[in-house]
Amino acid sequence: MKKMPEITEWEDGIKQVKITMSFPLRWVNSYLVQGIDGRVTVIDPGPRSEGTEKEWDEVLDKLGIQYTHIHEIVLTHHHPDHYGLSGWMQERSGAPVLMSQRSWQEANYMWGSESSLNEDMPRWFGRHGMPSALEIPLREHLESFDSQVTPAPHVQFLDEAEPLMMGGRLWKPVETGGHAPGHVSLYQPELQLILCGDAVLPQISPNVSLLPGSDPQPLHSYLNGLQKLGHLKVQNAYPGHRNPFGHFEARTEALLQHHEERLTRIAAMLQEGALSGYEVCIRLFGDKLGIHQFRFAMSEALAHLIELVRRGEAEMDERPEGCRFHSR
Ligand SMILES: [Zn+2]
Ligand SMILES: [Zn+2]
Repeated sequence: MKKMPEITEWEDGIKQVKITMSFPLRWVNSYLVQGIDGRVTVIDPGPRSEGTEKEWDEVLDKLGIQYTHIHEIVLTHHHPDHYGLSGWMQERSGAPVLMSQRSWQEANYMWGSESSLNEDMPRWFGRHGMPSALEIPLREHLESFDSQVTPAPHVQFLDEAEPLMMGGRLWKPVETGGHAPGHVSLYQPELQLILCGDAVLPQISPNVSLLPGSDPQPLHSYLNGLQKLGHLKVQNAYPGHRNPFGHFEARTEALLQHHEERLTRIAAMLQEGALSGYEVCIRLFGDKLGIHQFRFAMSEALAHLIELVRRGEAEMDERPEGCRFHSR
């Protein structure tokens, strides 16, 4: 692979910057949109580390941009690989950081000083059958993200009713949930472009997580979001990971179908007997996952099980010894 940060200028005037992140995604796409007045908008600066700070110094140097030319920093969602560097970049540029109100709420729920998610999630996975030996590694894994998201930015809220001027054109914020509550894609209707963050990705199915205290119906939210995005006329889509792609509507349909197929598969598993969330996770994704992958696999399995409950195809039994799902 080429040395990061790789910069690609697309014909729409959008610069794609690959900022390094951990395996398996390897990079997150940050995008720069620049107007003729020289004002630069940065979308999703990436996760914070010493390495990524240096990458940004290099990128701006190569492009002849100073931090003070950054007019605003826009965040599609609160995940560390997108939101992480925003506070750091704000300190250097003085630029406002824009994200949806729901997304900011979620950033505080995950990374705020009052957050108890690092303790709550392992305990709650335990209720869903995760072996207790995984509780400490999972908590330590979650704690390892804290350095990637500090300092927190001072934020202003994006609103669907207020299009953003970027690169001399108006972009419409489109809010969807499921991958991340309050996720915002930016849509440019005249050129039919979309900066879609992690709402729609090529090749990869964006993770849909059920987490304690967050959206109680994340898969339902995600599927609704795909339908909403699928109605937009899009020529070129600029995703948060992998490379820009052109078959946006078809991709939303493929993702919808993927989740329906998985729901059918899980419903069939439950026909054979009651299962815990952990047992469903292992049947879907195997038992060889590292802790990072396991955490997403487990919360994804639970998101599907809860969707089956919502549709009346499964029930969840909550007992003192833990929760199990069975067919209806
Ligand atoms: Zn994400
Ligand atoms: Zn991401």
